[in-house]
Amino acid sequence: MDCLFCKIVNRDIPATVLYEDDDVLAFEDIMPQAPTHLLVIPKRHISTLNDLTDADAAVIGKLPITAAKIAKQKGISDAGYRVVMNCNEMGGQTVYHIHMHVLGGRAMTWPPG
Ligand code: ADP
Repeated sequence: MDCLFCKIVNRDIPATVLYEDDDVLAFEDIMPQAPTHLLVIPKRHISTLNDLTDADAAVIGKLPITAAKIAKQKGISDAGYRVVMNCNEMGGQTVYHIHMHVLGGRAMTWPPG
């Protein structure tokens, strides 16, 4: 499958991996939008949030849990951070393998652009 994040999962292209288990992978975003910017993805290919089914609940539940663990390791938990999932074009999604952005290390603004 011609999917950028599947290639990262399979180590066909490099990434700075922060966490991995059977279900999820976390790695540094290549174009960080904050001092801390990482992505947490399910290893199994799921294109968009719209493709999720009830069967995905356990794996998807691991995304924020992993995000919080890494935020703690990176020392941004107490100050705070933001998690974002973009869906389809109007949501700003450019890579069609669902991913949770974890952004921290600076104050976030609201609403997002
Ligand atoms: P956007 O590009 O608008 O942020 P997405 O929500 O689809 O849309 O996010 C894709 C993210 O993947 C971007 O933050 C981008 O910097 C990141 N990215 C693209 N290619 C790589 C890569 N090879 N390694 C790590 N992160 C990547």
